[in-house]
Amino acid sequence: MAFQLITLENSQENVTCPHCQHAVIDWNEEQYLQPCEHTLFIAMDLGFEFIADEFESTMSRSVDEIHAHDDQGLNIFQELTNSSYPEFTIYKASLGAVGGQEISRYIGFTG
Ligand SMILES: [Zn+2]
Repeated sequence: MAFQLITLENSQENVTCPHCQHAVIDWNEEQYLQPCEHTLFIAMDLGFEFIADEFESTMSRSVDEIHAHDDQGLNIFQELTNSSYPEFTIYKASLGAVGGQEISRYIGFTG
């Protein structure tokens, strides 16, 4: 697995792409998820919000398959890190506890 994990301290912070500085999460916009061409995925522990085809094709299960079995419990982080994508970076931001479970958002970039 060739990924780097970066934990963001402040979950209310905008997240900018390390390559083009585009604000992929921009809290000033109503549509606050704004993937750029370097964005591989945006996902929460509760499910996927965005996935690039080139990344989905490297995962052991497709997003549809994963969601089809989400009644058995999701492990989004494991699904993401099982990918054979050569090199990527995951930004992890905690979103707090939902129903006793700690929820995080994961934003993936190439390289
Ligand atoms: Zn970018």
